[in-house]
Amino acid sequence: CQWKKQFMFIFLETLIPRRSMASDPSTEDITRLDFLVIGGGSGGLAGARRAAELGATTAVIESHRLGGTCVNVGCVPKKVMWNAAVHAEYLHDHSDYGFEAGQVHFSWETLKAKRDTYVSHLNRIYRNNLDKAKIQTIQGQARFTNDPEPTVEVNGKKYTAPHILIATGGYPSVLSEEEVPGAGLGITSDGFFELESLPKRSVVVGAGYIAVEMAGILSTLGSKTSLVIRQTGVLRNFDSLISTNCTKELQNSGVDLWKNSQVTSVKKIDDSLELTIATRDPEKKNDEEKISTIGQVDCLLWAIGRQPNTFGLNIGAIGVETDDRGHIVVDEFQNTSRPGVYAVGDVCGKALLTPVAIAAGRKLAHRLFEGKKDSKLDYSCIPTVVFSHPPIGTVGLTEEEAIKTRGKDNVKIYKTSFTPMYHALTSRKSQCLMKLVCVGKEEKVVGLHMQGLGCDEMLQGFAVAIKMGATKSDFDKTVAIHPTSSEEFVTMR
Ligand SMILES: Cc1cc2nc3c(=O)[nH]c(=O)nc-3n(C[C@H](O)[C@H](O)[C@H](O)COP(=O)(O)OP(=O)(O)OC[C@H]3O[C@@H](n4cnc5c(N)ncnc54)[C@H](O)[C@@H]3O)c2cc1C
Repeated sequence: CQWKKQFMFIFLETLIPRRSMASDPSTEDITRLDFLVIGGGSGGLAGARRAAELGATTAVIESHRLGGTCVNVGCVPKKVMWNAAVHAEYLHDHSDYGFEAGQVHFSWETLKAKRDTYVSHLNRIYRNNLDKAKIQTIQGQARFTNDPEPTVEVNGKKYTAPHILIATGGYPSVLSEEEVPGAGLGITSDGFFELESLPKRSVVVGAGYIAVEMAGILSTLGSKTSLVIRQTGVLRNFDSLISTNCTKELQNSGVDLWKNSQVTSVKKIDDSLELTIATRDPEKKNDEEKISTIGQVDCLLWAIGRQPNTFGLNIGAIGVETDDRGHIVVDEFQNTSRPGVYAVGDVCGKALLTPVAIAAGRKLAHRLFEGKKDSKLDYSCIPTVVFSHPPIGTVGLTEEEAIKTRGKDNVKIYKTSFTPMYHALTSRKSQCLMKLVCVGKEEKVVGLHMQGLGCDEMLQGFAVAIKMGATKSDFDKTVAIHPTSSEEFVTMR
């Protein structure tokens, strides 16, 4: 039958290197495929699997573990840790809800072992999925050669395809010893997932979502945690409501916040670290820099941004353009400056999120192998959650962006804040804050921002409505679900 023939053909093609003309020795040992993917993370795997479904002979090159950042050192193990931290928070509320739980012991070691087992299980699932889809997995570091047609070398073997996807992601930024002496004594988010025990004393440096999440997890699980930020608030790219409230919530939950501060040096003293910190408030004229130390630190975690992973790829050899931060420059169709070479995901530096990399990879596969010429990812209205305590959900324009792009007179803001009913009985309190950003006469909802219990799971449905162009009156026409926090979004006035 036809599909079996096609299947055998595809299968053999992946196994048997197609020899080119013997008269051209330079291309003699090149394996030729329809689609060659560099990077077996979120974007690469999604693009490869969709391409294979559409009949392309495909191979994925991965230098480390399948699943990439998200599965191994990102979303997945992070969410496991956040779930554990949520348990720790709820323990405080047990007696308020009538439970006498007694002495509770937390074992980081047990949690880490179970988390690692889960991640290894996912690694195996990813491998099985590739095998089932007849996608060749090539283990090793990919590097473009200097051949005239874009060609990739792995472990001394050459591969090429008319369509090559770069989905090599990124890695955590680190400071050099010149910038901060002793910086190398700290770890990054990658190292966080290798910690074998709960640090007693942690210092997290950074104000982005990874810093906020890691500081929250460490503190909630019982590590005395400081967060060092250069300015006055965290999450400065978020709506001001979220930035201000998250900064406050971190402090409320016991994180020791060092504003306007920078770690200037790190020293190892016996088994722990001593950090020197410089603090200066730029708002206060003639404010002298104050130098302080934090001692007895057993976990210094740098969460100061991420770099694109193009190191060693030799993309310059094939003329792939990068921006000043090293991100691969792509157009709206994920085309790089070299025809036949594409890039998706974190390596492009836009909306560094797993579902974004996945969606871009799939859209590309449909364009290349299904003839869908217009298939491309719409990067507007991407919802995102920060797993802070309590969690944050945000989609669309911030109030500041809406005013900047539509003008102040065209923007209407609806806001509310309240104590979720869950906390009516608990001595531990946290607030829920919500904001709708609406524009124009019809009050189209272009932004929705919230922080509070349950906001992580609340966002996706609202994101659908906003993507569809919902107006404030559409929200108002929707009957509330009572008693929930989300009902506030359809009853705001
Ligand atoms: C701590 C943390 C928490 C996060 N939490 C979330 C979250 O909650 N939600 C969310 O949506 N996103 C989250 N992210 C972001 C998310 O993980 C990334 O956006 C996503 O993994 C990007 O996918 P990618 O395919 O671009 O790259 P990656 O998933 O990083 O995959 C790239 C792969 O390429 C491989 N590679 C690199 N160079 C080569 C080479 N030369 N040869 C062969 N292989 C190579 C790498 O080993 C890697 O496996 C988090 C990230 C971090 C660090």
